[in-house]
Amino acid sequence: MKAVVFHGVGHIVLDDVDEPKIESATDAVIKIVSSSICGTDLHMVRGTMTGMKYGTILGHEAVGIVEKIGQSVKSVKVGDRVVVCSTIACGDCTYCKYEEYASCDRSNPNGPEAGTAFFGGPESTGPFNGLQAERARIPYADSVLVKLPKTVTDADGLLCSDIFPTGYMGAEMADVKQGDYIAVFGCGPVGQMAIASAIYMGAKEVFAIDICPDRLKVAEQQGAIAINFEKLDPVQSLREMTNGFGPDGVIDAVGIDAVRPHKGPAVSIVEVVESAIEKTAAAPLAVLTGNHWKKGDGPDQVLRWCVDSVRKSGVVSIIGVYPETEEFFPIGKAMGKSLTVRAANCSHRKYIPKCLDMMKNSQFKPSKILTVFNGLENAIECYKHFDKREPGWLKVELMPDDVENCA
Ligand SMILES: [Zn+2]
Ligand SMILES: [Zn+2]
Repeated sequence: MKAVVFHGVGHIVLDDVDEPKIESATDAVIKIVSSSICGTDLHMVRGTMTGMKYGTILGHEAVGIVEKIGQSVKSVKVGDRVVVCSTIACGDCTYCKYEEYASCDRSNPNGPEAGTAFFGGPESTGPFNGLQAERARIPYADSVLVKLPKTVTDADGLLCSDIFPTGYMGAEMADVKQGDYIAVFGCGPVGQMAIASAIYMGAKEVFAIDICPDRLKVAEQQGAIAINFEKLDPVQSLREMTNGFGPDGVIDAVGIDAVRPHKGPAVSIVEVVESAIEKTAAAPLAVLTGNHWKKGDGPDQVLRWCVDSVRKSGVVSIIGVYPETEEFFPIGKAMGKSLTVRAANCSHRKYIPKCLDMMKNSQFKPSKILTVFNGLENAIECYKHFDKREPGWLKVELMPDDVENCA
């Protein structure tokens, strides 16, 4: 079968690989209806998340049809249309029983201290083959697969695999309450889902901070107030727009690949110098291929802005991805301001039902931000467009060519 395979930093290939098989009684094999490219995939291709093994199939977001199940699988049957949870959890350990699926004790083969297991990630996360393929093996199928209601299209279901539950969790971790001011840093797909969720949870005003005009426009269409950080200083603007206080909650939906402002009032000489130093020091494994797979030049930029802009006693919610090696956080300032700081990988199994409820209750269609549909055979080209944040390439859906999309 065809699959997008990691060969090295800056080097991914659409390869022919073996079909997946049932390897354990708790497995299922699904035929992929559609999968997508996520910002997290770019961290791995760019080398900001290190430790990828040669030959790993990429991708952790998909909708599929169950083709085979292991003997002990009970919650899904052959023929069911399902969304795949990006993170892999056993569903049965102490953590899973408390719905802390991202902390599952059993699913990561590297042991209970190894962190969250997920599809298509570095060796430390399994490694498990990912979902940008024609078929995939799903471990712990009872916990990792969620049946989709008929009313949910493939495209909407696909966004429930990762970005929608992650954005929803970001808003929940920011303690969004009726009448709150909330700032969302980063208007990529996850940021957009956090904006939608914050509005759904009753935020009075949501501020959306980014640099790409088309992403800011999508945020505005959702009802957010856009702040371009190369035109305005986001910290100062947020304070001004919240009666001098700062937002009640701020969400980091960017992570390690953040970029610094290179013009406008938020840039300073000190920052330009620091940026040059960080660029050379932060990620020694980076290999730049032409103009592609370029890392952000401000890995701690959003964390600083979050802590600086949130009101005293406010909440910082971190859902952007940081590698284990990232050790910077302005803890002194956070303590001085009496902040609550939360950071987590998404426990998808807990949040997907909440997302399905939100769609039912609010007519929200996450797929309205999914702007590009393409064949799996064009996957590598799609990666390049998405990598460069080209206008219109906010989220990419990849479909194996023999599948008819019912969205
Ligand atoms: Zn993702
Ligand atoms: Zn578990």
